[in-house]
Amino acid sequence: MTLQLHDTLTGRKRPFTPIDPNRVTIYVCGPTVYNRIHIGNGRAAVVFDLLYRVLRHRYPSVVYARNFTDIDDKIMVAAAKEGVSIEELTHRYADAYDEDVATLGTLDPDLKPRATGHLPEMIAMIDALVASGHAYEAEGHVLFAVESDPAYGRLSKRSIEDMIAGARVEVAPYKRHPADFVLWKPSTPEQPGWDSPWGRGRPGWHIECSAMIDKHLGRVIDIHGGGRDLTFPHHENELAQSSCAHGTPELARFWLHNGMLTMAGEKMSKSLGNIVTVQALAERYDGEVLRFALLAAHYRSPLVWSEDLLEQSRKGLLRFYQTLADAGDPPADGTPVPADLAAALDDDLNTPEAFAVLHRLADEVRQADGKAAREAARALRAGASLLGLLERPAAAFLEADAARRAAGATLDEAAIETLVAERQAARQARDFGRADAIRDELLAAGVEIKDSADGPSWSYR
Ligand SMILES: [Zn+2]
Repeated sequence: MTLQLHDTLTGRKRPFTPIDPNRVTIYVCGPTVYNRIHIGNGRAAVVFDLLYRVLRHRYPSVVYARNFTDIDDKIMVAAAKEGVSIEELTHRYADAYDEDVATLGTLDPDLKPRATGHLPEMIAMIDALVASGHAYEAEGHVLFAVESDPAYGRLSKRSIEDMIAGARVEVAPYKRHPADFVLWKPSTPEQPGWDSPWGRGRPGWHIECSAMIDKHLGRVIDIHGGGRDLTFPHHENELAQSSCAHGTPELARFWLHNGMLTMAGEKMSKSLGNIVTVQALAERYDGEVLRFALLAAHYRSPLVWSEDLLEQSRKGLLRFYQTLADAGDPPADGTPVPADLAAALDDDLNTPEAFAVLHRLADEVRQADGKAAREAARALRAGASLLGLLERPAAAFLEADAARRAAGATLDEAAIETLVAERQAARQARDFGRADAIRDELLAAGVEIKDSADGPSWSYR
């Protein structure tokens, strides 16, 4: 079966054939490094790690690049607030990012370019855009002229009028057209900056990725990935810059976008105050449990993140590892990936179907004895490893999980519900001493109760 991937630009699932099967190229937009990432950022890292594993399973050489955006106004603000240099801040959070995505079981990309290491390439690309009439200088800024690109809007399927009406563009007096976007902007003496033909300044966000893709992977790459929220303006602008600078009709042959992660029906965002960092989750759950939960839904679907999903994922993994342990925990030892599991992932990374195959394989292990059970267990391990799961000795997972339970890192939900109900009964009986004692007991286990007119609700802290 051929690998089928859904491409945002054409809006459909198509067979994937690389430009050069001996060098498959994939670029994914990485983090702007100024804080710890949330689990929604973790979803993108895990989804494209899965794609990387599937590509490596098929092709002899895959080059996967994921950048660090280490120059940005948000970084400048964060560094000033923390009283450290930009360099110190960005190195700290790039290391933290690597640590967080390693917790989620991702392989290290082949290339991790940093924006600040690519200023000459960005300046050269902007220069070429100005020379060809696709960009212009105005008051120390260089702007991309969207009207110079008749195809602008094709990735996000928006007309320029829609963009203006939706107020997704920043209006500025020096722009020829409200939708024109910044390639270069001036820096004050206190701000970080680099010398350029347009004065001392710094690059816009979008040009960073275009320049790094060109330098490391080529003018047209096989796959460009990122979260769906990057489609516009970031990816639309990357596509416009690269295709206009190089005179190529495309930047990537496939554009892949993962769906958003929501908390209790809302998109996670700082303003809503419902951000959950990977670091905080990893204090309560094994990184493999988080990975399992992130892969539970198809990557293009929204994923509703909840304590229930986490607990189900933990129990699911526990059962898989227990099944392996009961069969003597044999290593995969070169056992091929079962064909139905590979086929599920070849169908646009259909992880729900792949998980169904894992459950069938686990049932086979449980129903067999002796040598047959060990063979089935090898197949289960081989299949799961393509998903980056079940890669540890079973005893290691089972012991770590037992240790977390014993340490009371989490009460199970039934126990929490019972305590919450007892506290409510105590309150109604005006036994406030008892109610407070239960509240303190829950707090010690990392569970917080909130009282409202609708009654109490609880959440992990
Ligand atoms: Zn990018």
